[in-house]
Amino acid sequence: MESMTTGKFLLKVSGCQMSFRDAETLAGQLQQAGYTATDSETNADVIIFQTCCVRDTAERKIYGQINQLKALKKERPDLIIGMTGCLAQKDQNKVLKLCPHVDFVLGTQRLGELAQVLANLSTNRHRIVDTQEDGNLESLPLVRAKGVRAYVNITYGCSNFCTYCIVPYVRGPERSREPEAIITEVKEAITSGYKEIMLLGQNVNTYGKDLDGKTDFVNLLQTLDNLPGLSRVRYMTSHPRDFTNDMIRAVRDSGTVCEHFHLPIQSGSNRILSLMNRGYTREYYLDLVTTIKTLVPEASITTDFIVGFPGETDEDFADTLDLLEKARFDAAYTFIFSPRQGTKAATLPKQVPSRVKKERLSRLNAVQSRVSRDINQSLLGKKVQILVEGPSKNNPEKLSGRTRTNKLVHFSGSQELIGQLVTVCIKRAFTWTLHGELL
Ligand code: SAM
Ligand code: SF4
Repeated sequence: MESMTTGKFLLKVSGCQMSFRDAETLAGQLQQAGYTATDSETNADVIIFQTCCVRDTAERKIYGQINQLKALKKERPDLIIGMTGCLAQKDQNKVLKLCPHVDFVLGTQRLGELAQVLANLSTNRHRIVDTQEDGNLESLPLVRAKGVRAYVNITYGCSNFCTYCIVPYVRGPERSREPEAIITEVKEAITSGYKEIMLLGQNVNTYGKDLDGKTDFVNLLQTLDNLPGLSRVRYMTSHPRDFTNDMIRAVRDSGTVCEHFHLPIQSGSNRILSLMNRGYTREYYLDLVTTIKTLVPEASITTDFIVGFPGETDEDFADTLDLLEKARFDAAYTFIFSPRQGTKAATLPKQVPSRVKKERLSRLNAVQSRVSRDINQSLLGKKVQILVEGPSKNNPEKLSGRTRTNKLVHFSGSQELIGQLVTVCIKRAFTWTLHGELL
């Protein structure tokens, strides 16, 4: 048994929900080892960067933040600085050269080693790099972030190899968790007071494919739907190629699974979709949208787009704008293509100039903003169910929460409503948010 510490830790987290869930596992181990959390760099004995490398902008920001700690480390050589997550996995030994003040680098599959790494560092200040591509991610201690929503992994890794994406290289191949482990974790979250479960995976729709036919995504949704005490179930991310009509029906027939379909399309051009290795066409995707709107008319549909993929012509981009008008997404998360070293797309010819990428992004965003605002305005006067999340970020006098369709709604009400389902009448509607009155 390691000796307990009384030190303080600070976690700096960037990236997607999976990265945040990983941070909760890091916090669990730190707490079990006796550390307590702090918000202040100067008070911390251990500072860990839980990182992302999906785009260059994320990477630069993290290196900037790490390098800002050089002076602090010089002042306090005992301070332990670590790096975990996707960028740690990708840059491994390079980090030690680039950042001489970083003490350890732990890969995405080695999270469970944190306590041991810290114990080793406390007796022997040797820099540690552990990025082996295996490791136990089950039954690790956990400190969840406060709130109404608990994140639960259902798969780890990704085997899709979309040609632009670094994730399969830094998170390993797709592995499904045993259904029993997922259900146990969900039940624990419910007991701890969480009202909403967000199931996580890079492609949740292929959940169970590696479990010998024991279960699948539909089966998992149906099992969770029957658990008492749960208000809502969400999941992300879906891959349009693997989203079946059975899944749409499972959402429709369930009481807790929310009517929100996040289906990243990435491009509206068949030529670009094929270069991206996405495995579907725009026609297939539009059919999927029609089926969802037919089977679940009240559903919202959101998406992701990448603009400026290598070789994207004005015609390809026009196809994307055309698809945007046809699909009429509730919202879209839009990104400029960022070449990731080691992926196929980074080596493709005809990289699009930065100026063109930026111009396309702003045109895309302008169209999407109009569509989002129009759809949101159609909700004026409607009554919607909200799960109250907490004080509104922009105005702490107000509360905010989400509709089942994942729209953010601000309204006035008492703090006691946090965590409850309430009904609100929509009074004002904007591109990204709605304002309502409690009924
Ligand atoms: N597995 C999910 C999926 O398939 O959509 C999420 C993966 S990724 C972390 C989230 C989004 O980032 C993707 O949907 C894509 O739009 C964007 N993305 C991934 N790689 C990118 C790159 N190299 N440049 C720009 N955007 C990228
Ligand atoms: Fe990346 Fe494609 Fe896997 Fe999503 S499905 S993580 S975009 S490779």
